[in-house]
Amino acid sequence: GARAPLNINALADEYLRLAYQGLRAKDKTFNADLKTDFAPGLPLVEGVGADLGRVLLNLFNNAFYAVQQHQQTGEPGYVPTVSVSTKQVGQQVELRVNDNGTGMSAAVQQKIFQPFFTTKPTGEGTGLGLSLAHDIIAQGHGGTLRVASQEGLGTTFTISLPG
Ligand code: ADP
Ligand code: MG
Repeated sequence: GARAPLNINALADEYLRLAYQGLRAKDKTFNADLKTDFAPGLPLVEGVGADLGRVLLNLFNNAFYAVQQHQQTGEPGYVPTVSVSTKQVGQQVELRVNDNGTGMSAAVQQKIFQPFFTTKPTGEGTGLGLSLAHDIIAQGHGGTLRVASQEGLGTTFTISLPG
């Protein structure tokens, strides 16, 4: 794909809604709170839109999966929530994807960027999403992809890209 100056807020908003609609098309009873906090006036990011879109779609699909799984524990008053925010940090544009889903143990967190690592049943995950995402962000765009997670509480992925 061709590199072009990209509006990360617009890209994230588009793919968040795409991921949510895709999930709801399969499971009409599923509802989640989507929260967005997009910083105005961010610098454009030089990047490949289709590649960054693929990264975002995978992060959002993972987040929705995690909240859907957590919901099945039947915790009273649980509201599945996926929050996406952007901000400028120095010369970088930072995008965060937070969910209040299952979270991950430290042992799982250490393996998630390895190709073919998955905890999902056969047919539901290839384990390639995050390894591909990591390559697209690091090699493809000179950025970083980091994770912070607590089992039973949720997960935050943070993408930093040169603005
Ligand atoms: P896949 O989604 O096909 O399993 P990924 O590379 O996208 O592959 O993710 C690898 C694994 O990382 C998942 O199987 C899951 O165990 C864990 N994971 C990723 N995102 C989340 C998340 N938001 N919450 C909890 N676990 C996650
Ligand atoms: Mg995935």
